[in-house]
Amino acid sequence: MRKPIVGGNWKMNRGIPVETKEMLKKLIPLVKKITAVDIIIAPPFTALISAVDIVKKSNIKIGAQNMYFEEKGAFTGEVSPNFLKAIGVEYVILGHCERRNIFKESDELVNKKLKKALSRNLNPIACIGEHLEEREAGKTKEIIQNQIDKTFKDLTKEEMIKTVIAYEPIWAIGTGKTATPEQAEEIHIFIREMVASKYDKATADLVRIQYGGSIKPTNANELFEKENIDGGLVGGASLQADSLFEIVKAADETTK
Ligand code: PEP
Repeated sequence: MRKPIVGGNWKMNRGIPVETKEMLKKLIPLVKKITAVDIIIAPPFTALISAVDIVKKSNIKIGAQNMYFEEKGAFTGEVSPNFLKAIGVEYVILGHCERRNIFKESDELVNKKLKKALSRNLNPIACIGEHLEEREAGKTKEIIQNQIDKTFKDLTKEEMIKTVIAYEPIWAIGTGKTATPEQAEEIHIFIREMVASKYDKATADLVRIQYGGSIKPTNANELFEKENIDGGLVGGASLQADSLFEIVKAADETTK
């Protein structure tokens, strides 16, 4: 019922147009027959224009890794959603844990960005997730509940459905430690139940919830097989066309 979505978050690793071109030229022919999975690549701002150009005739869409909630003005160093739209960007990652932890983005700020992205018809991928100490203290659900309440505050039903939620346990990001499929599924079910209680079951059934945290070709299958895991947000393994293709294929398998 839900189309899986696999996003490659390149972070600040590959932002020169020439290397972006090189990777995407390898990826495009590999994924060209995949129609049952949405494939998103999110390079740094400096590579967005060339990335949009290269994927034009392919089934890959381009996302930004961040944006500001204002459209124009004296906000040095920020990027407007209008600029992203104007160059053909279709998705935007918001509230990634690196933005939250390093750049101190709050749930309230992410909520403002999320509403603005939706109002400008950009597809948001909104990230939530708990720290290791929070999990070890048995507080995962409490943290997730709080993040959902604040990050998705005042979204209409239609906006909630358009928002892709990325559940990314912070302890699993870039660490090589992946949540087990059971650990991830438990939280995905919890998130879906929360969406159902805020809206209704039909809405919750439509919202796509990605898992993110050290996804690799070797663990993607078992994660994506879980009923409530609708694909993944991939960091490290999205930098190589071959490994990202394996992960996309794993998502595609679940649709058969
Ligand atoms: C991420 O950056 O969203 C991520 C999940 O990274 P990694 O796959 O490298 O853990």
